[in-house]
Amino acid sequence: MPWFTGYPREKIDWYPRVDYEKCVKCGMCMNCGKKVFKWSEKGPIVVRPYECVVGCTTCANLCPGNAINFPDVKHLREIYKREKIWGKVKKVLESEGKLKVER
Ligand code: SF4
Ligand code: SF4
Repeated sequence: MPWFTGYPREKIDWYPRVDYEKCVKCGMCMNCGKKVFKWSEKGPIVVRPYECVVGCTTCANLCPGNAINFPDVKHLREIYKREKIWGKVKKVLESEGKLKVER
């Protein structure tokens, strides 16, 4: 998926942070399909931060302890604006035929 069209993922500060004071060790966050977390005695540990899908907050939304946090989305929007990522993504989507109107 052309989320950032060549912009280095490691430069984007977007991945979950777990507050272990709030974590109830339910395991829900282990459903992440990107394998960002690894289970441990203290609960989930973020082991593959840059596999986290930029902009995704599913694990935080479904966490019963409200124990997962992300940086302010403003930070993301600033990068997208500064690097003109929106326009680049659109071009890739067009070239992949994803913005074609089906008739
Ligand atoms: S979903 Fe939340 S409460 Fe459950 S294990 Fe993950 S961080 Fe802990
Ligand atoms: S935000 Fe999405 S991709 Fe990132 S760790 Fe949570 S569920 Fe996985």
